[in-house]
Amino acid sequence: MALRFVIIGGGPGGHAAASHAAKLGAEVTIIERDIIGGAAHLWDCIPSKAMIATGSALNFINRSEQMGLTDVKAQLDFAGLRDRIQSIEDRLESSASTLLRSQGVRVIEGTGRLVGPHQVVAETTGGAVELEADAILLSTGSRPRIPDWAEPDGDRVLTTRDAYPPKDLPSHMIVIGSGVTGVEFVSMFSSFGCDVTLIVSRQQVLPAKDPEVAAALEDEFLARGVRLFKGARAQGIERQDDGAVKVLCDDGRSAVGSHALLAIGSIPNSEDLGCDLAGVEVNTWGYIDNNHHCVTNVPHVYVAGDLSGKLPLSSVATMQGRKIAEHAMGMHTRDHRHLDYDKAASAIFTEPEIADVGLAEAEAFAEGRKIRVTKVPFSASAKALINNSPRGFVKILSDPATGVVLGGSIVGRHAAELISVIALAVTAGLKVEDIVDSLFVHPALAEALAEASD
Ligand SMILES: Cc1cc2nc3c(=O)[nH]c(=O)nc-3n(C[C@H](O)[C@H](O)[C@H](O)COP(=O)(O)OP(=O)(O)OC[C@H]3O[C@@H](n4cnc5c(N)ncnc54)[C@H](O)[C@@H]3O)c2cc1C
Repeated sequence: MALRFVIIGGGPGGHAAASHAAKLGAEVTIIERDIIGGAAHLWDCIPSKAMIATGSALNFINRSEQMGLTDVKAQLDFAGLRDRIQSIEDRLESSASTLLRSQGVRVIEGTGRLVGPHQVVAETTGGAVELEADAILLSTGSRPRIPDWAEPDGDRVLTTRDAYPPKDLPSHMIVIGSGVTGVEFVSMFSSFGCDVTLIVSRQQVLPAKDPEVAAALEDEFLARGVRLFKGARAQGIERQDDGAVKVLCDDGRSAVGSHALLAIGSIPNSEDLGCDLAGVEVNTWGYIDNNHHCVTNVPHVYVAGDLSGKLPLSSVATMQGRKIAEHAMGMHTRDHRHLDYDKAASAIFTEPEIADVGLAEAEAFAEGRKIRVTKVPFSASAKALINNSPRGFVKILSDPATGVVLGGSIVGRHAAELISVIALAVTAGLKVEDIVDSLFVHPALAEALAEASD
């Protein structure tokens, strides 16, 4: 009899697991209360990147005089942007759910919860559906964290879920939080011509990133006129009579703008999942601990995506989903590669774009580890000059004794695409010579990777 695999939550983790397990021969049921594709498609990755793409196009076109064009001016059509986001989401949702259905996956529209170690119930508009499972995946994701001093109203005080896009184009957006999500918003709204203030709790935007990378982004923000409140923590938001918002900081400073946006992290969707009825342990922060196969403390219950408390990235959730499907189907042989979170590439879709993978310079320094660091600016790249995007650099970290590539960071146009070459090298244990000896296209931005490896 086929393995009965029940999945709660149809985001990237649940979707990938469902699709892969169905291909491997499992009898798969997935329960989703919103859309297949999850928060990633509805509120997070897709709408944010669609807005960012429009902002970049706007900037690029308005700089086109530098490319020998005249009288080319673009203006933002906010209603058109909304339609574009909707149409991208519709297409992705339709292809994601069509794919699952074509693979024989049973898709239940409803809210799922555990009612026993092998039992799941889906509450649907047509009533409760009871399911028996041999393996269960919990992939219910996360939602924006709302501090007790803020009351989002979906109008002027926003979470990331209200902001893609907001009802009106903000005249002055105050972004609270300078992690990945916060800086993406800053970049996007400043591209649209909005005034932007960023509340930065530390002395550096992107506090977890390489200082050189963060400095490149700060320079761009300052050049665009973004106001940075460094070393300030927001501790209150007041609405004013004219509709404006005032953000109060703990150091006495305050900022007044048309909108405030909270970008201060997320919390996992683990309440109401019935974990106690299945014996699944939820940790103090609401995440579900799991091992390198994403198995929880209950051997046939898996967790993927943001709920797993690992890297909160869609790409990671997808890979977890695939690995879980293989494990549930008994395919975790000795050759099976474990998921190595340290080798996950990530990107920040700001202007300039930022991407990194593997070991960071500051981390190597803190560990007292000997590394070779090589860096090449895009201003030396023919293709970057042709593209009118000479800002940024490629940095590659390798082992000085063996030449094995340990990590890298890229700042500049198409960084999120280019990092794949370094990610492949890090995952496959390739050496800098392997990159140098690869015959890349000329002229291409990738040539900078070969030069930085030399
Ligand atoms: C603004 C923003 C931008 C981002 N951009 C990127 C990016 O560019 N690249 C990237 O890799 N990552 C990005 N992320 C992170 C990424 O969105 C998440 O890591 C990813 O969505 C997590 O996937 P998941 O599988 O946990 O499911 P989610 O996408 O969180 O979806 C979970 C699904 O479970 C459903 N659900 C919840 N509870 C139940 C229940 N009880 N029953 C049935 N269904 C339920 C929900 O409706 C939802 O559809 C971004 C995040 C944010 C906030």
